[in-house]
Amino acid sequence: MSDLLQGITPTMLMGPGPSCVPDAVYKALAKPTIGHLDPYFVRIMDAIKEQLREVFHTQNALTMPMSGTGSSGMETCFVNLVEPGDKVLVLTNGVFGKRMQDVAGRLGAEVDALEITWGEPVLPDAVKAKLESQKYDIVGIVHAETSTGVCSPVDAIGKMVRDHGALLIMDCVTSLGGIPVDVDGWFVDAAYSGTQKCLSCPPGLSPITFGERALAKLKARKNKVPNWYLDLSLIASYWEGTTRTYHHTAPVNMEYALYAALKEILDEGQEKVFARHNAMHERLVSGLAALGMEMLVAKEYRLPMLNAVRIPDGVDEAAIRARLLKEFAIEIGSGLGPLAGKIWRIGIMGHTARPENIDRLLETLKKVL
Ligand SMILES: *Cc1c(COP(=O)(O)O)cnc(C)c1O
Repeated sequence: MSDLLQGITPTMLMGPGPSCVPDAVYKALAKPTIGHLDPYFVRIMDAIKEQLREVFHTQNALTMPMSGTGSSGMETCFVNLVEPGDKVLVLTNGVFGKRMQDVAGRLGAEVDALEITWGEPVLPDAVKAKLESQKYDIVGIVHAETSTGVCSPVDAIGKMVRDHGALLIMDCVTSLGGIPVDVDGWFVDAAYSGTQKCLSCPPGLSPITFGERALAKLKARKNKVPNWYLDLSLIASYWEGTTRTYHHTAPVNMEYALYAALKEILDEGQEKVFARHNAMHERLVSGLAALGMEMLVAKEYRLPMLNAVRIPDGVDEAAIRARLLKEFAIEIGSGLGPLAGKIWRIGIMGHTARPENIDRLLETLKKVL
């Protein structure tokens, strides 16, 4: 029988995720599988919780990876915190805000959205007006909108949400490990991320963190969390405490990989990692400008790790992407929704953010355009 796996060759992953995976993480995946309740595995779980507190910048006890991709973290935040009839405000400026609206709506929340033009940030003044117009129980915001390359100033919004008595859920799937994320300093009550963006791990886990106010709302629920698998009050008995009891079988080798990926970041030093992302972003933007290409997002709101570049006139964007992948083993992303056909999304996330990778993409683009 032929083996399809023999046909897999390395691709330089410069799209919206997954990103390039360092060797240390591949090696971690190949370590022997041990039991999900083996005391040695419990030590690894505890270490991961510590590592995650460092990258999330939080003291939250309930900080751990959910077994599922980034969207499972989103679902976890909403399913545990939303009760039917709750008023949820989503600050939407791209695909992932839209997804939050959908998730909250399915839980019977009264969902309201502050809709912002895709490519622009969520700004504090607009949020303030919305918060003053009525009382909300929960507010959702996407720190780094991967669909547009925009960074929204959660640091200037979190306190305002708290002062208005709502809980803040933050999506930091793309930002975590690439730019500063400060869960405690920004008054974020619940946050989630994913492994395959700036953490440079394969997709499969979703780190989350819940603060005390979020846990109080969970405890005070009138009805059970409507999803057994994501119910944090049950999962905590596996991830916390001195006696760990079975909830589900953790994806053991993926946890090794996450441990190794976080170790890479913490060993390099978070400040250095952020500086590397910024430097690579500048290298990319000036190289693209030299090719006559322009960015979608205003300079001050650009994400370093996700670059939305306008497609030059007369260029068949899908054909170029297909050539990059087929002939040069480089993957970049297309535009979504209203930005389909208008932009490419060039990701320089985590391990991908290296000068040789930026230069290889720029040289190749020059050739194919
Ligand atoms: C990728 C992404 C998600 C969803 O993560 P999946 O791993 O695809 O489920 C959510 N939010 C943002 C901002 C993302 O970039």
